[in-house]
Amino acid sequence: MWVTKGQDRAVQLMQSALVYNRISHAYLISGPVNVGKTTFALDIARALNCLNDDVSLVPCGICSQCKRISSMVHTDVFLFDVQSGNTGDRISSNRVTVDNLREDFISQVYKKPFEGKVRIFIISGVNHMRVEQANVILKTLEEPPEDTVILLLSDQIDGIIETIVSRCQLITLDYMDTGMIENHIKEFWPDFETYSAREIARLSKGLLGWAHNAVTDDTVMIKRDELVDIYELILKHDLDERLHESSTVVEKFRTSSTSGKYELDVWMTFWRDILLVKTDRSSEITNISREDNLKILAAGLSMDQIIKSINLISEFGNNMKFNVNLRLIVDNLMLNLPQAS
Ligand SMILES: [Zn+2]
Repeated sequence: MWVTKGQDRAVQLMQSALVYNRISHAYLISGPVNVGKTTFALDIARALNCLNDDVSLVPCGICSQCKRISSMVHTDVFLFDVQSGNTGDRISSNRVTVDNLREDFISQVYKKPFEGKVRIFIISGVNHMRVEQANVILKTLEEPPEDTVILLLSDQIDGIIETIVSRCQLITLDYMDTGMIENHIKEFWPDFETYSAREIARLSKGLLGWAHNAVTDDTVMIKRDELVDIYELILKHDLDERLHESSTVVEKFRTSSTSGKYELDVWMTFWRDILLVKTDRSSEITNISREDNLKILAAGLSMDQIIKSINLISEFGNNMKFNVNLRLIVDNLMLNLPQAS
């Protein structure tokens, strides 16, 4: 049973490679953060080590090999994380320096499987690798060890040296349909009632890993609510109060683990929701639990004001990319956003 959901193309590709015994030495698995790359890599690890004789049924998920990999205690499965400050991963993995990679990876990669059939090396954040790190990997890809599969995970192909890309089989994981994520939440967390499955699914924007985090970790939705609270408050306040709130916004963006991208995305989604409510499309909003507040705000704003605000937030996002003084652009936004009547 594959734990990976909503990635039929990728799963079928691996299944047929298993059936025809055409497993590559190395795969480059790419897709956005939280799309499920590590989950997919662990599925491959289980599939290649599963004890079930019927290759069309692997990974079974219940044999000792599958279970040991799921519990992260299998001695032939290694997880390295090249990315620094990665807080989104569900499975703890070690951040890797060049020296770690040389010592831990090279010292392990040429050994024979200890308890399983295939040794698996999962290396995430490959697009963040420096040249020295990339060369360590490249050397191994040029002389692939037997009974070993290397799984390189990356948010994007850009930034990975060409010689690595050309030596791997590429697999892309796509955004999932939010309807499928909604069903998945209902099926796996039937008792989760704090927010509707639909709201989590829409907020996830097609990233199952995000939805999983939101259901299992309270802080994810607390943060969303804190941000939307601020964005609502700004619209109700006058200029004096806003310039005071400016510091809070700057602080939120500055201390963000994703350099403000998430905070900006929440802001944009909030405004898109106001537009949807204003145009009688409330059933399509993302922040479902905030619908009542959104309706009040939308009623106090004109269409022109809403569209202008969406453009302002978008422009703010562009300025952020160019490292413009954050305080300056937040203040500017505060001066120009409309006040809801
Ligand atoms: Zn199994």
